[in-house]
Amino acid sequence: MIIVLKPSHTPKELTALLKEIRRLGYQPHVMRGVARTVIGAIGDERSHPSLDALCAWSQVESVTPIQKRHKLVSREAHPQNSTIRVRDVVIGGPELVVMAGPCSVESEPQIIETAHAVKAAGAKILRGGAFKPRTSPYEFQGLGEKGLKLLAKARKETGLPVITELLSEDHAELVAEYADILQIGARNAQNFQLLIAAAKTGRPVLLKRGLSMRIEEWLSAGEYVLSNDNAGLMFCERGIRTFETYTRNTLDLSAVPIMKNETHCPVVIDPSQGTGRADLVVAMCKGAVAMGSDALLVEVHPNPKAAKSDSAQQLSLEAFAKMMTELRPFAQAAGRG
Ligand code: PEP
Ligand code: MN
Repeated sequence: MIIVLKPSHTPKELTALLKEIRRLGYQPHVMRGVARTVIGAIGDERSHPSLDALCAWSQVESVTPIQKRHKLVSREAHPQNSTIRVRDVVIGGPELVVMAGPCSVESEPQIIETAHAVKAAGAKILRGGAFKPRTSPYEFQGLGEKGLKLLAKARKETGLPVITELLSEDHAELVAEYADILQIGARNAQNFQLLIAAAKTGRPVLLKRGLSMRIEEWLSAGEYVLSNDNAGLMFCERGIRTFETYTRNTLDLSAVPIMKNETHCPVVIDPSQGTGRADLVVAMCKGAVAMGSDALLVEVHPNPKAAKSDSAQQLSLEAFAKMMTELRPFAQAAGRG
């Protein structure tokens, strides 16, 4: 921890500050410069209390931590890549895993047809929202439990494991009963009680990046999952809010190599929410694979124009199959079979 003092501090104030730093379990080292005095507080920041409260001292200008707060998600703590096994599928291993399906589960024929089609095209996991986080309360909110039952039926028919969003703590047990992976949506990425409830179900958790979430905050949110006895955490970049209007969100592909460096957890790219445009999905998937993404989460619908949510960004079944073929050489070039 580096503590920078204001130039006006008195020797008495410095002595009091050093006493407080020792009380908190750190060993202070004073460095006097020409214009400023800086204190290096030595101690394991992850097992000692934070020194943030020193900011309240009138003579302290800034307090900067050296160590990361998110110790369980960090690569420092766990140098090897973590892999997550979901039935027969391994996420975070050598294989690029594609999760595909509609934004929302709308009906039995819709989800069953989509499940068969995405499986035939090479997807390994079926996605579909049953509880939908819609911006307006007047929009389609999802089929709820009925949607979960339809996902389970599609899994039974195709063998594809299922990922679906958990919107509320109240539904944690219910959703975990049907889903193989729990998705925490962008709007709930810092709903810490929801993250804890999701972790406690024991199901793997896919944590989307919040609309205006810094990577540091995203990693800290992930720490809530791993620190609640759940080893199956993966991070999913799905675009952040910027000033750009050509796309719904700005898909931050630089987050992939950054996250691969910072964390051992698998990293997933969602180009559908990430751009809001079906015509950009293929290019973004190629980019994501080149960046080192472990998996892709892609929205696919038998009739995107008639979709009850996110119609502009969903691929048709044919477009998805074509994309999977186009992606193959890119996956191979990136060392992913
Ligand atoms: C979705 O996957 O359909 C979705 C709503 O995702 P996000 O939370 O990223 O907006
Ligand atoms: Mn969607």
